Amino acid sequence: MLLTNYHTHHNRCKHAKGNVEDYVKEAVKHQYAEIGMSCHTPHQNFPQMGVRRMDYSDLATYFNDIEQAQKKYPQIKVLKALECEYFPHLYDYMVELRKQTDYLILAQHYIEIDGKFQDAFHFTKPKQLEVYAACIEEAMATKLFAILAHPDVFMTLYPRFDEACEAAARRIGKAALENDVILEVNANGLRRQKQTYEDGVRYPYPSEKFWSIIATEFPSVKVVVNSDCHDPAYLNDEYMQMARDMAKRLNLNVIERL
Ligand SMILES: [Zn+2]
Ligand SMILES: [Zn+2]
Repeated sequence: MLLTNYHTHHNRCKHAKGNVEDYVKEAVKHQYAEIGMSCHTPHQNFPQMGVRRMDYSDLATYFNDIEQAQKKYPQIKVLKALECEYFPHLYDYMVELRKQTDYLILAQHYIEIDGKFQDAFHFTKPKQLEVYAACIEEAMATKLFAILAHPDVFMTLYPRFDEACEAAARRIGKAALENDVILEVNANGLRRQKQTYEDGVRYPYPSEKFWSIIATEFPSVKVVVNSDCHDPAYLNDEYMQMARDMAKRLNLNVIERL
């Protein structure tokens, strides 16, 4: 099996440990073929929202660190990427970032309803899922994003997998298929441990019900398993293995390489 990870953070986002080289060294240690650095995109004139991120002034150094690692560790392919929230007024900035990177990850941690940001980790209402799905569709249609991170993050606090969840899963699966965007099984949701919900005890994400819809109704959608590590020790930890096993068990169309 080829080992890869395309969702990796580093300490400039202020909520992760280790610098770029620490993650690349960890990947080399585990004989990974590829690692994509994809820390949270900084913004100049945009609310920081809940996710802490690197300062805009750090972006050039972040890219430079990745280039240095590419030279220093020729035994592994190191890719330059960013994890982005998409909002229409950021389109030009995203186009610019896409030119400077190997790929962009879409991760919609926030949606906007009536001018207010709402956090996808705290969704509890069907309306929020509708707006989330619409936002993903719009972002994917730009063709700027290679991967959608944790598409099922909306299940984090959502009390039960209901029709609104099914509808969101179908809209995301269809948009991924139409725009050739890879969906991510995210090991970081497993690190959050199982929680009790109205419909039973489960991980916040990945949601087995979400992924069953993808596997049965959109079997050709490409799926990647990513660590979303915020600590080098988590790059290839037990949760990453659990995520790989889960993707296999659910019969997803897993790709190992972008
Ligand atoms: Zn983060
Ligand atoms: Zn991330």
